[in-house]
Amino acid sequence: DPTSTSAHERTVQLDKAHVFHSWSAQAALNPFVVAGGAGCRVWDYDGRSYLDFSSQLVNTNIGHQHPAVIDAIAAQAQVLTTIAPATANLARGEAAKRIVDRAPEGFNKVFFTNGGADANENAMRLARLHTGRDTVLSTYRSYHGNTGSAIVATGDWRRIPNEYARGHAHFFGPFAYRSEFWATTPEQESERALHHLERVIQSEGAESIAAVLLETVPGTAGVLIPPPGYLAGVRALCDRYGIMLIFDEVMCGFGRTGSWFAFENYDVVPDLITFAKGVNSGYVPTGGVIISDAIASDFDTKVFPGGLTYSGHPLAMASIVAALDAMENDGIVENAARIGRDVLAPGLAALAEKHPIIGEVRGIGVFWALDLVSDPETREPVSAAVMGRIKSELMARNLLPFLSENRIHVVPPCIVTDAEVAEALAIYDEVLSLDLL
Ligand code: PLP
Repeated sequence: DPTSTSAHERTVQLDKAHVFHSWSAQAALNPFVVAGGAGCRVWDYDGRSYLDFSSQLVNTNIGHQHPAVIDAIAAQAQVLTTIAPATANLARGEAAKRIVDRAPEGFNKVFFTNGGADANENAMRLARLHTGRDTVLSTYRSYHGNTGSAIVATGDWRRIPNEYARGHAHFFGPFAYRSEFWATTPEQESERALHHLERVIQSEGAESIAAVLLETVPGTAGVLIPPPGYLAGVRALCDRYGIMLIFDEVMCGFGRTGSWFAFENYDVVPDLITFAKGVNSGYVPTGGVIISDAIASDFDTKVFPGGLTYSGHPLAMASIVAALDAMENDGIVENAARIGRDVLAPGLAALAEKHPIIGEVRGIGVFWALDLVSDPETREPVSAAVMGRIKSELMARNLLPFLSENRIHVVPPCIVTDAEVAEALAIYDEVLSLDLL
C-alpha cells in the first residue's frame, strides 16, 4: 500500500539491512526514501512531494514516468523481454537508427552497452585498436564511470583508490573561474590550456597516444563550459598527432544543453561519441558508443574483441525509441534551450547579483552550476558544513537538489516548465538569504 507509513519504515529497514550503497561509508547513511514520481516531481510514502532539480543523477531528461516510454517498455515486454546480442532485433535497429540520425555525417554504427562507464570503456578500446596506440589522455576535472579503465580515465578523487588500469595520463582542461594557468580572460584560458595539452601530448610521446577523452561539457566537475576555441583547438591537436577524439556525452548529451549533442554548440566533431543517461532517461539501463565510419570499417573484416550479454537489450531499446520520439514530437530539446536562454540564465544571474555567496553562475540549456564561495575576492569555496546546511534547507522547502563539492548544480529535466523554474528560483533565493557562512 503506497500510502501507508509502514511502506516507508519497511523501505528504510530493508535498505539499512541489505542494500550496499555507492561511494559511501555504509553505517551513517540515511537515504532519501522515494515512493514515486511524475514529470519534475518525486514523492515519499507520506505524500510529501519534491521538485526534482537533480534529474536524479542528471539523467531523467524526459522527466519521471513519461507515459509513452512506459507504454513502449510494456509493449516490448509483451513481445520479447530479452534476446542475445548476436541476434537481429527490430527495437535495437530502430534505436540505433534514431541515434545515428541525430549524429553528424559519417557516424552510422552504434555499439550498445549497459551504461555510461562501459560506453567509455569500449570507446577507449576502439581508439586503441584503431590507432595501435596505448595511452588515453583525460582531464583531472572529469568523471567517466566506475569500471576498469573508465575510473582510471576519471580525474577526480574516485580514481585514486581504483588505479588498476594502465595506459592513462591526465591534464588540466580549461576552467577560467579557477584557472590553473593564471589566465584572466576565457580566451587566454583557452589558449594556455591548449598549449598545456600540446606539451602533455609531446611529453607523453605523441606516437603512443590513442585518444583524448573529454566530457564535451564536464558535468559532475562543475558544468565547465569550454571557453572559445578550446574544443576546436583540441580537435586540431588530435588531427596533428593522429589521436582519436572521444566526446563523453553521457551527462551532457540528449537534450541537456538544449541540443541533441553538446558538441553541436561548439561546431566540433569527434571520432567517437559515448552516451547513456538522457538517451532514454534511465528508464532501463543502457548506453553506447556512436562510431565514425573510419573506425567502424576497421571491423568489417577484423573481429571486434568486445561484447556484453545485454548489449542492445530489447526493453532498453524500446525505451530509447519511445524517449527519442517523444523528445522530438514534444519539442523537449527546444524547451531545454529556451528555458536555459530565457528563464534560467536571467533568473540565476539575478540570484548571483543578490547573493555574494554565488561566486559564479555558468551553464547552458538545463545544465547549470552555482559556484559558492565564502569570499568573492579570493573565491574560497564554501565548506562541506555550509553545503550540508544548504542541502537540508533546500529539502525542507521541498526541492531535491544536486550538490557537488561547493556547488549547487541546477539540472532539472528538459521538460521543466517556466512555473517550475520560478518555484525553484524562489527556493534557492530563500535558502541563500539565510545566514549560511
Ligand atoms: N560519463 C559521465 C560524463 C558521467 O557523468 C557518468 C555518470 O555520471 C558516466 C560517464 C558513467 O555512467 P554510468 O554511471 O551510467 O556508468
